Amino acid sequence: MKHSDASGARTPYARRIGLLGGTFNPVHNGHLRAALEVAELMVLDELRLVPSARPPHREMPQVSAEQRLAMVKLAVADESRLSVDDRELRRDRPSYTIDTLESLRAELSASDQVFLLLGWDAFCGLPSWHRWQALLEHCHLLVLQRPDAGSEAPEALRDLLAARSVSDPLSLAGPGGQISFIWQTPLAISATQIRQLLATGRSARYLLPDAVLAYIQAHRLYAVPEA
Ligand code: ATP
Repeated sequence: MKHSDASGARTPYARRIGLLGGTFNPVHNGHLRAALEVAELMVLDELRLVPSARPPHREMPQVSAEQRLAMVKLAVADESRLSVDDRELRRDRPSYTIDTLESLRAELSASDQVFLLLGWDAFCGLPSWHRWQALLEHCHLLVLQRPDAGSEAPEALRDLLAARSVSDPLSLAGPGGQISFIWQTPLAISATQIRQLLATGRSARYLLPDAVLAYIQAHRLYAVPEA
């Protein structure tokens, strides 16, 4: 996309794209609300939910990757700021985040900004990720922090934080390379809770979009198989 500047000249417009990865088994209002709040706060053009592949032996017997993807598609269908990126499911093996970023970057212009959303716990585990130090070559990190969190970053991340963090997430500049924190109170909803409710015959209504719940019911997902 191009925008005109004051002189009328065409200037390249840097898109702002956020990424939220997860298994989304199933997607729920905790994910969606957090994603929408970040999209609004960060004035993103698009926040993509990126369902991850799971090793075949870890896939729940009755819920396939295609079904997890279908549910995320239904969840974001009428929200223009949220979308789905299925590239990790199109690979024949689970992908590392660095692979996802490299593949996405190949489709973008160099000035486009990419923001990778990570919960605090995931951020603390970063040093164990494949080629983690290369992540910032492709994106900014937006660490979602709970207001009640009190833990310190691990030693291995202290120098990185000192060198790369900026206090105002809206001042993250350029295509990538910096880290900022967003303080957000998450809704107390988890996919685990939803699976447990459904497996015990209880309602999960209002925890996830009605369209997703209808899909779950139509495909008899998460229910205990009849004996
Ligand atoms: P499970 O209960 O199966 O572990 P989950 O509900 O935590 O699943 P994931 O698919 O693992 O869902 O989460 C994807 C991403 O969304 C993760 O970064 C996770 O931290 C974040 N997330 C999960 N639940 C919430 C929530 N209630 N509010 C905000 N973010 C959430």
